Amino acid sequence: MIYYGKQSINEDDIKAVEEVLRSDFLTQGPAIERFERSVAEYCGAKYAVAVCNATAALHIACLSAGLGEGDILWTSPVTFVASANCGRYCGASVDFVDIDEKTYNMSVTALEEKLRLARKENKLPKVVIPVHLAGQSCDMARIKELSEEYGFTVIEDASHAVGADYLDTKVGSCVFSDMAVFSFHPVKIITTGEGGMVLTNKRELYEKLTLYRSHGITRDTAKMTRESDGPWYYQQIELGCNYRMTDIQAALGCSQMTRLDTFVARRRELAARYDALLKDFPLVTPDVMEGAAPSWHIYVVRVLFGQIGKTKQQIFAEMKERGVVLNLHYIPVHRQPYYEKLGFRQGDFPESEKYYEEAFTLPLYYGLTDNEQDHIVETLRSVL
Ligand SMILES: *Cc1c(COP(=O)(O)O)cnc(C)c1O
Repeated sequence: MIYYGKQSINEDDIKAVEEVLRSDFLTQGPAIERFERSVAEYCGAKYAVAVCNATAALHIACLSAGLGEGDILWTSPVTFVASANCGRYCGASVDFVDIDEKTYNMSVTALEEKLRLARKENKLPKVVIPVHLAGQSCDMARIKELSEEYGFTVIEDASHAVGADYLDTKVGSCVFSDMAVFSFHPVKIITTGEGGMVLTNKRELYEKLTLYRSHGITRDTAKMTRESDGPWYYQQIELGCNYRMTDIQAALGCSQMTRLDTFVARRRELAARYDALLKDFPLVTPDVMEGAAPSWHIYVVRVLFGQIGKTKQQIFAEMKERGVVLNLHYIPVHRQPYYEKLGFRQGDFPESEKYYEEAFTLPLYYGLTDNEQDHIVETLRSVL
């Protein structure tokens, strides 16, 4: 069976984890800082805060942006539920901006339009979370301009985009945003088992992020409300969480970082091969915006159903019978029952819903061989 994603673990990764297991610190040790520095330097960002997963990263990013009750967060409907749930964790309300028909990322035209309306109704968002679907950056230059005009905080959900490039920057540099979030789940570009990170260039946000990661507790006397009682003393000055990453995970992350460029290069090669091999298929292959060089976390195609006599359910079933497991990223978040209970309806975001009708994800990961990819393509040819 070929699945849509799979981690790549080598002997160096195993050694790195083993070293931590034989050391004094399993958590809150030196590997965390090493990993944070490694990712921050790679991306060209000043600060990085490692946490237990990207969902936690999104949560503390929202908390650090000051998101709370009465506030509004906007994101894309075509994303994993975590990009929206982080707003709900903070007690904020969540709304969506429909996707661009070509890149499937948040449409900047729709965003602009919605912001204009929201200003009139006095319902502007405090936080906007663009999601770099498949590892292709959103139009961040335009989003940054809009953030300055309308005064919202930008948190990039870059869970798919570790190692991706945008204009002259690495995604994660935060040149066009306040914060960027990475995921290190095993299906993503690099892995720590479970893991996430928030990057930022702003000292003030960095300090809040570290506070929210660890119970809202500080040992920094400058932040305390009264003089320290002694060397054991700490103060809880906010309500934070325990979202720490372990050193075991961070050591794996450091080791994976040394192969990040190799991983992304192979993913780009595989994506280019798919583009070429699928040319005459009744499919729409991915469109890349000028200035973006995706990391290709996933490879999404859209079926031209007018040209074939099969349903998506049939395509999934017949591919699976032949050993290829397809996937779908994503069910539009506003169509989830939890969000429907909050008032969202079918038809609210038509471009996202049309995408959902037609899209599916083909297997793509570092260890996928050319032969396996040819097999996937031939299987798909016979099924379609
Ligand atoms: C994977 C993913 C997340 C959540 O990541 P975890 O590390 O599993 O919490 C959030 N947003 C997007 C777009 C993702 O793909």
